[in-house]
Amino acid sequence: MKGLCILGATGSIGFSTLDVAARHPDCYRIVALTAHRAVDTLFEQCLKYRPRYAVMADENAAMALRSRLAETDCGDIEVLAGNAGLTFVATSPEVDTVMAAIVGGAGLLPTLAAAQAGKTILLANKEALVMSGALFMRAIAATGACLLPIDSEHNAIFQCMPAGYTPGHSAPSVRRILLTASGGPFREWPVDRLSSVTPAQAVAHPNWTMGRKISVDSATMMNKGLELIEACWLFNVPSRQVEVVIHPQSVIHSLVDYYDGSVLAQMGNPDMRIPIAHAMAWPERFESGAEPLNLFDVKRLDFEPPDLQRFPCLRLAYHAIDRGGSMPTVLNAANEIAVAAFLDEAVRFTDIPRIIEATMAEFSGEDAATLEQVLDIDRAARDCATRWVLQLQ
Ligand code: NAD
Ligand code: MG
Repeated sequence: MKGLCILGATGSIGFSTLDVAARHPDCYRIVALTAHRAVDTLFEQCLKYRPRYAVMADENAAMALRSRLAETDCGDIEVLAGNAGLTFVATSPEVDTVMAAIVGGAGLLPTLAAAQAGKTILLANKEALVMSGALFMRAIAATGACLLPIDSEHNAIFQCMPAGYTPGHSAPSVRRILLTASGGPFREWPVDRLSSVTPAQAVAHPNWTMGRKISVDSATMMNKGLELIEACWLFNVPSRQVEVVIHPQSVIHSLVDYYDGSVLAQMGNPDMRIPIAHAMAWPERFESGAEPLNLFDVKRLDFEPPDLQRFPCLRLAYHAIDRGGSMPTVLNAANEIAVAAFLDEAVRFTDIPRIIEATMAEFSGEDAATLEQVLDIDRAARDCATRWVLQLQ
């Protein structure tokens, strides 16, 4: 029986994780659930799953949750707040496994703390790894923490790696990693119409239902850019060994190409419970609740190269990982600011790559060896991107 902490329980990945965990009460006990400020949702989850701890990142939301739980028979759930509360539960001795499913850089501190505490980390929060790649992977190696990818592509790659492979190591028999991408909702739109894209159009992904930020990232293809960087760290490969392949059906979730000419793919319906269940049961398997794949419904699988003119964010991500150092931190920070501004209707869809490119041009990408340096560069890049947002408004 393993103790589970879900960072970001009220999000899309959080819900899917609770769904899988509830199917296996003999394997997982819910120790902690966390959210930003969604009091109603976390309150409902507390009544249903009865964790030992509930954490709200927002202090006022924590007070509200505490008083609501006090009126129920769940008054013994300990309600904590802020980064201190998130870090406390992510490192608690009662917790074996941490699902890192906070969106964006806000997830870095508790996820890194879980790595430093040697927990098993199920990593959905790709931004945390992109921001702090070298630091994060060093913490994993130093403590022997087990890092398992939840992002569907990285989970697929992990499943296709040689027997006994664990993330963070290199696999000498692998020639290339083929990272698939659906191409998002605008793959076939006329490029000159992209400047008129609305937030509602951008978050309507053709194949997956996800949080708003990752949905916009999928529409700009920055999601694939972040995933490229994520793949370089998780599988210890240079970017030239990772090829992005557009595959609109989202049935193959990625592939591994071996030196002997064998290419292994992982397939399945687009349902995040599949990678979540894979990581939760690893190295065994258990049921996820997902529908079995019907190849006669799928009928055909298409592939094409990505168009870097249409999707400049992907080009910027290649530039960031190839420059190395802290440039991925800058890329991620600028993207978060630009996407939030787009969702607030302060800038246009096509301004997102402009804000990121302009921000990256103001940074040298020097190495960031400590957490403080990563956080300083992250803050400076957010300030810089915010200035570009104000200029474009
Ligand atoms: P979401 O927006 O649905 O949920 C985000 C969660 O993070 C919520 O529980 C929210 O309360 C919490 N949160 C937000 N801001 C916070 C803050 N400042 N402090 C503390 N908690 C905060 O997002 P999602 O779609 O579930 O995605 C979560 C992560 O998983 C992202 O990094 C995303 O890239 C990754 N991911 C998601 C999917 C998917 O299918 N949804 C697939 C692959 C990877
Ligand atoms: Mg993905």
